[in-house]
Amino acid sequence: MNLSYPITYINGISVQRATLLYTELGIKSCNDLLNFFPFRYIDKTAFYAIKELQPNTSEVQIVGKITSIKSVAQKRGSRLVATFQDATGTMELVWFKGHKWIKESLKPNESYVVYGKLNHYNGSFSIPHPEIELVTEYKQKLQSKMQPVYPSTEKLTNSGVSNKLMRTYIQNLLKQFFDGIQESLSQEIIDDFKLMHKRDAFLNVHFPKSQENLAKAEYRLKFEELFFIQLQLLRKKLINKTKIKGFIFENVSDNFNDFYNNHLPFDLTNAQKRVLKEIRKDVGSGAHMNRLLQGDVGSGKTIVALLTMLLAIDNGFQATIMAPTEILASQHYKAISEYLKNTKLKVDVLTGSVKIKKRREIHKNLENGTLHILIGTHALLEDKVQFQNLGVAIIDEQHRFGVAQRSKLWSKGGGSVLTIAKGTGIEVRNRYETAHPSVYKLMKELQKERKKQSAEAEKNLWEQLKTNKLEFKFRRQHIIDEFTVDFACISKPLLVEIDVEYDSTAEQQEADAIRIKILEEFGYKVIRFTSEEVLENIDNVIEKLAQELKNIPFKKAEVTSPPHILVMTATPIPRTLAMSVYGDLDISVIDELPPGRKEVKTVHRFDSNRLSVFKFMKDEIAKGRQVYIVYPLIQESETMDYKDLMDGYESVSREFPNPKYQISIVHGQMKPADKEFEMQRFVKGETQIMVATTVIEVGVNVPNASVMIIESSERFGLSQLHQLRGRVGRGADQSYCILLSSYKLSEEGKTRLKTMVETSDGFKIAEVDLKLRGPGNLMGTQQSGVLNLKIADIVKDTKILVNARNTAISVLQEDSNLSKPENANIRKTYLEVSKTSKIWSNIS
Ligand code: ADP
Ligand code: MG
Repeated sequence: MNLSYPITYINGISVQRATLLYTELGIKSCNDLLNFFPFRYIDKTAFYAIKELQPNTSEVQIVGKITSIKSVAQKRGSRLVATFQDATGTMELVWFKGHKWIKESLKPNESYVVYGKLNHYNGSFSIPHPEIELVTEYKQKLQSKMQPVYPSTEKLTNSGVSNKLMRTYIQNLLKQFFDGIQESLSQEIIDDFKLMHKRDAFLNVHFPKSQENLAKAEYRLKFEELFFIQLQLLRKKLINKTKIKGFIFENVSDNFNDFYNNHLPFDLTNAQKRVLKEIRKDVGSGAHMNRLLQGDVGSGKTIVALLTMLLAIDNGFQATIMAPTEILASQHYKAISEYLKNTKLKVDVLTGSVKIKKRREIHKNLENGTLHILIGTHALLEDKVQFQNLGVAIIDEQHRFGVAQRSKLWSKGGGSVLTIAKGTGIEVRNRYETAHPSVYKLMKELQKERKKQSAEAEKNLWEQLKTNKLEFKFRRQHIIDEFTVDFACISKPLLVEIDVEYDSTAEQQEADAIRIKILEEFGYKVIRFTSEEVLENIDNVIEKLAQELKNIPFKKAEVTSPPHILVMTATPIPRTLAMSVYGDLDISVIDELPPGRKEVKTVHRFDSNRLSVFKFMKDEIAKGRQVYIVYPLIQESETMDYKDLMDGYESVSREFPNPKYQISIVHGQMKPADKEFEMQRFVKGETQIMVATTVIEVGVNVPNASVMIIESSERFGLSQLHQLRGRVGRGADQSYCILLSSYKLSEEGKTRLKTMVETSDGFKIAEVDLKLRGPGNLMGTQQSGVLNLKIADIVKDTKILVNARNTAISVLQEDSNLSKPENANIRKTYLEVSKTSKIWSNIS
């Protein structure tokens, strides 16, 4: 018997019922049913006597006999009433539906166990729609003191699939298929965490013998569920790391150092330094970086992005930042250009509104490599946009981009060097090593030397090659198998080496020759120049290269390295959730604001205090500050929100009349160009007040704006409120956030506003949000199937999650392919779950 069989194999489940269970609950296989867990349990240890019943007793279990059954007419239809009697008294059992079927199946004067919610009316007791079974049946059951209650639907109940029937099905399932439940964890894990065995866990989760057993069973099943999710995520990460090669940014040279030492306008915070270190480790490792950078609004992500890009540039690559809106893209452009104004680096911006002529220029400069950094919106994703060699792509505010758009960035990398994946040349290398062990050893040593030398000649040649004058793209310092070569052509198998000057002994020359031979065996033509040649007559060198290239045929690229990916988000995701949703990404966190930031003073005011709020606005404007007033925008009632916004705008206009005050207005129904225009007026300080819907939520940077007023703030989610508040507090002045609301507040609404007033820590706010709304509603998590958990709860079971993740890590550390015999159980289940799983977050 196999658990993958359809549930019709279970005794008592007809095809009809099976269909119903599938359409209503999605249960198809025996395994599905086995994993259909109770949502609560009824403790049926106690039996009541009818005489003992009290009006406030809720659920009761009673043994007795049915003495009579009758139909009683009522307003619509009729109800079925049975008189139920035990040694101490009588009461009624009542049915409003399914009369015929119930009437026929009930046997008078037999002993029944009934169970249900107790009603008390006019001094008499009744149980509507009781669970009822013969005492003889009751005694035969896999009897447990605690009874499971399964989730159900109206249709199921109406079709006679009661909770009792569900229990019978699952009981039969467990009887028939018990042996088919196979252990999926290793003995070591079971021992380490003192886990219940899988069979017992299923038995006890459905029919617990005690609270204690139930707790153990639940722990085991939650652990298992989380363990296999983590195993999949971590293995995916592992595979990405080992299979997908990443460019190596091993040079930290002119651009980075010059900027860092001479142009950085402030000291980095410790958090920024730490994150930068993490990034440098990634891009130096040879693996492909896929990192999520979380940092609250204003924590200084841009500078980290910039330094990462400078690393790419120092290694002969280009870099890009993609932002979700034009406003954000131009802000990045402004910030980055400002940072780089005293350097020679070229930065440009590409958005939908860039004119065709400018666009062509950008395309050209991208392809010939003279443009170092391109910032833009999704316009970057157009096919016409091709980089010469894109080394890193930075994606800002990730939740605004779809999955497909993100992955499109991967293919922007320009050409690919004909590369032998690291380590595959082992056979060739071994051959040389065996034949000439001492020379080979020397070659290895010299190789290390080479790496350290950054010859002037090399730089000069790169200046030439990167202008594309040869019409073939090259990469500098490229790794072929285990060898770092000076230059590699992207589309033809040609390597260029510059020989560094040292007093070559015969042995050294021999070692050099071996290196070249190995590279040639890999299928490359290797051309060598001495540094003198390059320094004295570079034109000659270029000419020679041009000749050689003519004679070498094209070869299709074998391996493409995608650009490194850094995703930046200001929406903090609690760690535990991130572990699951983004478990396959590496995560960096900037958890420290730059020094000297003043916390935004946040207050909650009721609508009736509006006048004093206006007064406050006037005072701030008189000091030269600017003010945002934000109205909610909720999809379902867009027209109503629009009306609210317009009404608000009117009353603000009355209160702040022209020409003394200027007001901008921005909302979703405006054309992008008009929006941009209004926005710019505010950015330039031409208007003092910005009335807007949440379109301004993300990223907008107007340091002079110091007051954020949020209308109907009870209608906003926490993360949205936090984002909005992040628009102020960007300058040196004390900033304020005023949350306006009506008196009618839900409990949840109150908690949200209170949280905002109490803290400005994005992670704390995210934790509260997670508790209030559950993981599925948090920003950025909607697409993730990770959250369709059967038994575990990401919010409540964080301890188990951490255990499961750590266990998965240590299993993979010792046995990355799960091929060791002791991991056979794990491997089997892993293969099964990864076939059907939809857990990928698909960030990239
Ligand atoms: P965000 O993380 O929201 O993108 P930004 O990168 O826009 O934040 O930085 C917000 C502001 O803080 C900018 O004006 C930036 O110049 C400034 N800033 C960033 N890092 C530091 C630092 N280490 N010290 C002082 N100011 C900083
Ligand atoms: Mg930013």
